[in-house]
Amino acid sequence: MTMQPSLYIDGKWVHAGDGGARDIVNPADSSVVAVVDEATAADASAAVAAARTAFDSGPWPHTPIAERAAVLDRIADLLARDRDELARIETLDTGKTLRESHIDIDDVISVFRYYANLAAVEADRIVDVGDPTVISRVVREPVGVCVLIAPWNYPLLQIAWKIAPALAAGCTMVAKPSEVTPLSTIVLVRLAEEAGVPAGVLNLIQASGAAVGAALTDTPDVDLISFTGGAATGTSIARTAAAHATRVALELGGKNPHIVFADTDFDIAVDRVLTGVFMHSGQVCSSGTRLIIEESIADDFVAALVARAEKIRFGDGLDDASETGPLVSLAHRDKVESYVALGISEGAELVTGGARPTDPKYAAGSFYPPTIFDHCDRSMRVVTEETFGPILTVERFSTEAQAIELGNDTPYGLAAGVRTADPARAERVARALRAGTVWINDFGFYTPAAEWGGFKKSGNGRELGPTGLAEYQEIKHIWNSISPSVAGWFNGE
Ligand code: NAD
Repeated sequence: MTMQPSLYIDGKWVHAGDGGARDIVNPADSSVVAVVDEATAADASAAVAAARTAFDSGPWPHTPIAERAAVLDRIADLLARDRDELARIETLDTGKTLRESHIDIDDVISVFRYYANLAAVEADRIVDVGDPTVISRVVREPVGVCVLIAPWNYPLLQIAWKIAPALAAGCTMVAKPSEVTPLSTIVLVRLAEEAGVPAGVLNLIQASGAAVGAALTDTPDVDLISFTGGAATGTSIARTAAAHATRVALELGGKNPHIVFADTDFDIAVDRVLTGVFMHSGQVCSSGTRLIIEESIADDFVAALVARAEKIRFGDGLDDASETGPLVSLAHRDKVESYVALGISEGAELVTGGARPTDPKYAAGSFYPPTIFDHCDRSMRVVTEETFGPILTVERFSTEAQAIELGNDTPYGLAAGVRTADPARAERVARALRAGTVWINDFGFYTPAAEWGGFKKSGNGRELGPTGLAEYQEIKHIWNSISPSVAGWFNGE
């Protein structure tokens, strides 16, 4: 397979310094769909150096906000132009259905548009210090060189949530997508180049974390690391960055409760619980993997869920008939399978799924069926740890207080849902849940204008919304005396 250079350093597409490369595999059939460069630590350091120079002496941080916003808008236009091709690439790389990939690309377009608009209306703040001879202003400046590290489940979306505000703020950056799913980010960087992002501002490194992690994070040349991925990786990066007092923003995992009260609309709840956990085969950080259900309807609810789960059509994401695709890789399927075995050994009751599909048409791919465990409790690791696959665990409650206690009894705090016909209860529960996003009578939605991120072990900082831009900004207070005078404090000779 001929390989185009896939590292972008200082405005040039280059191969890895040692010629290293990696096969990129379609998880639906294990075929190789592309070969990309596998960067060395020296390549990663060259990318950081290019971003440093572009920040310290390039035009981008000082380019008027309106011009930077116009570049973001052009990127959005180009993404819209290449939407279908990008969606196909995302599906080939991740296995998700084309329908999901199209939704992702549309969301990416919105995020570029949102930050183009937000950056353009940002204003300095004048502060009244009580002295007419002083002009006091609080201004926002780009934080500097950013390292942007993304996971494989929403490759383009997650990197776009970082690149768009970083560009809007005037930062320079090195983007590193997951080594498992690099393809759509290569296209995005090509589009950014076409849209007029200057050389050195947006650099692209492809490699595993083991190969380039230290070069990207253990360096005083980086001002911010924005990381989305697993909790173990994120906390280890934070420890490394602490040695340089580098700012770190972490978007980590989740183990998200979906609380269902008996007074809710039964059929809608079944449908939304099903979608909330099995969409993208559960490989979603905000997936509703813990059903917490009121005892009085639990048996009927689980039976209805099982009936619906068994009808989910999984298959190749390029096939329009597929409702969900394979897991991202054979290795990831092994991990999911090990959680299923763990759940069984812990005494959870397997009510559907729990074994690889036997149909030969699934043999070469990393498919795994929707799996439900009933009668679970918090002593089980399948309930407390992120499985990141199509596994739903069911716990039961009798009172509102129990529901809240169960919902909060997790080290994570990314997202949660509550379903009830009682608006006052919905509001009480939503406020009591320690999670960055709470959905009332809905699940899974977000908008570029509202912040996204986690409480507790799900991370720190926020993406999206005005806070998502502020992550990429330093705040500076400028105190300007327009009538300088002596202080009159030390009066000695
Ligand atoms: P991961 O932690 O294995 O990898 C994430 C990224 O970090 C990859 O690009 C990887 O190459 C890189 N990496 C690994 N080690 C590194 C190191 N030492 N230094 C620098 N970079 C390193 O996660 P994953 O398996 O790709 O993604 C799944 C995880 O991501 C799940 O835990 C999921 O919940 C989380 N996630 C969170 C959100 C959110 O918004 N909170 C969104 C999507 C995914």
